[in-house]
Amino acid sequence: MVDDSRADRRFITRELKRCGSPYHVDTAETVAGAREMLSHKHYDCVLLDYNLPDSDGLALMEGMHHMPGNGHTGVVMITGEGNEKIAAQAIKLGANEYISKKQMDGRRLSVALDRAIEHSRARRTRDHQRLVMENFASSAAHDLANPLSGLIGFLTLAQQSFEKGTTERVPEFLENAMTSALYMKQLVMDLLHYARTGTSADDPEVVNVADSVRTALNVLAEAIEKSGAIIRVGDLPTVEAYPTELVQLFQNLIGNSIKYAGDKTPEIDISATQEGDHFIITVADNGVGIPENSRRAIFTPLLRLYNEGVEGSGLGLAICTKIMDLHHGEIWCDEREGGGSYFRFTLRPRLED
Ligand code: ADP
Repeated sequence: MVDDSRADRRFITRELKRCGSPYHVDTAETVAGAREMLSHKHYDCVLLDYNLPDSDGLALMEGMHHMPGNGHTGVVMITGEGNEKIAAQAIKLGANEYISKKQMDGRRLSVALDRAIEHSRARRTRDHQRLVMENFASSAAHDLANPLSGLIGFLTLAQQSFEKGTTERVPEFLENAMTSALYMKQLVMDLLHYARTGTSADDPEVVNVADSVRTALNVLAEAIEKSGAIIRVGDLPTVEAYPTELVQLFQNLIGNSIKYAGDKTPEIDISATQEGDHFIITVADNGVGIPENSRRAIFTPLLRLYNEGVEGSGLGLAICTKIMDLHHGEIWCDEREGGGSYFRFTLRPRLED
């Protein structure tokens, strides 16, 4: 609360208390004092008087949205009677609500604070999502630009060979161009798959997790056969889940355990433990492992670690994250003593729990 009048501050505090408002209130009496407080602490909302001794409330608002930690803080402006112009200006500068001093009571204050906080949270989520989308779009464009340059390069070489009449290397150039084009096609298909994951129209069902694993293993039969992978499946629970997506999740994790086995024969253990109201499912492997500082980053779309000669587009784990979002669960990666990785995720017996 930024207000220089002791009487108003008392009134507001009392009224909020009377209405059972859950908020903790810190107070400042000047714009400078409020700036100081905002530079040290995050606030959900500022209840801001217009008339302040060192400046006006609008001046505080102007700088506020650039303050780290308070860039999305909600603002409820308190204006004097007949100050509609100021209220309009405050809204223009980003205030979420305004209340006239004369009409102010606990109920109105509580409603305005709740709304302002809700708006500012929605804006924060929107801005975050926009940032994620921008990063994703720029990574996707970057990843597509590489094979596209290759494609253009090899087609140019083929064209120049025809112009010069020296065509003996043309088949090689065309084959390389085709490799780049196929890689691009795969990447575009994977991007589409990623974009569509989670928009499933199917309803959740009661699923025996062991059945999902079995289906995933069938899909991966060729890779399992080729690598000679040994796969052990422990007791797995029955949960409410999206069946197709759960199979996809196991397919991606088990597929990765085979792909990133290094020069060993893959050994993969799939098991479950119960922790309170949820299950933790673990896919453990004996592969190359993941450095500690990359264990979060690998879930970012299109991010791949150094893995020469292993095909992929860096979307498998990002798809797993989306599938876990759909299940209101979490997925993460832990180190496995003696080498390899643990990929773990949570499932609940009932989705709405
Ligand atoms: P992709 O396999 O297509 O690269 P993912 O999103 O599935 O994409 O994985 C991202 C990165 O995480 C991989 O490039 C790899 O470096 C690493 N990774 C994933 N799973 C494993 C694993 N089981 N063991 C070691 N590294 C892994």
